[in-house]
Amino acid sequence: MPELPEVETIRRRLAPLVAGRTLHALEVLDAKWCAPLAPDGLRDALEGRRIERLWRRGKYLVWEADDEVYLLMHLRMTGNVLLDAPASAPYVRVRLALDDGHVLSFSDPRRFGTGELALGRPALDAFFATRLGVEPLGDDFTAEHLFDLTRNRRTPIKALLLDQRRVAGVGNIYANEALFRAGIHPLRTAGTLNRREVAALRDAVVASLQAGIAAGGASIDDFRHPDGMEGAFQDEFLVHGRAGEACAVCGGLLVKFVAAGRGTYACEHCQRRPRASRRRR
Ligand SMILES: [Zn+2]
Repeated sequence: MPELPEVETIRRRLAPLVAGRTLHALEVLDAKWCAPLAPDGLRDALEGRRIERLWRRGKYLVWEADDEVYLLMHLRMTGNVLLDAPASAPYVRVRLALDDGHVLSFSDPRRFGTGELALGRPALDAFFATRLGVEPLGDDFTAEHLFDLTRNRRTPIKALLLDQRRVAGVGNIYANEALFRAGIHPLRTAGTLNRREVAALRDAVVASLQAGIAAGGASIDDFRHPDGMEGAFQDEFLVHGRAGEACAVCGGLLVKFVAAGRGTYACEHCQRRPRASRRRR
């Protein structure tokens, strides 16, 4: 599933191409993509508008058009945005044709991706306010902020990181990587982390996301760049997908278990398992 670095990779590639262009045609081939909004309604709101800029919030790709009209794309499980894909490209659900001839195709084999509309900045802010917490690469994601989020929370720290309403954009891969970098076991109760641990985790989340962006994201499933290239971050995973291999720090064996309902990878020498969960092994 694309996480923040994968969406940011797409954004960085496409932003210079779409900023300032006019959306010549919006073709919705799968009405489920924008439901409950009808494809015609979406088209009427967007066609002929100038795209001011392409930005990102959490895992959302935000197409900001003139007059404060926003198209909010979420890639979900398998979505990709392809640049000038052949007409025969499979799984295309939406096509956006620009006035300079470029065509962006939203390809999505499992059809979980969504397109939503926000009219006006207040509507956009309200949309995100109910769905997304702090932006982890923004100025507000301080150790203090993360510390406040963890107070009195009995949920495992990994579940808290995955909760988009608390920290936006972090998914399973980057949560696994960040917790390893911080030396914190994914099953630790969030409220038991001390200030030093939270500060380390904040830095580890930022470092993991930035490493993912620098590598062009991770292509372990369907994720591809708009030009079809793969990201390289899967070659740099410290723990994700590496159960049975040696920990790069201590040489111990990396293990896999389930936390927050997701496949979780850790070194239980570097990331000490909380006492309360030990007898369940
Ligand atoms: Zn280790």
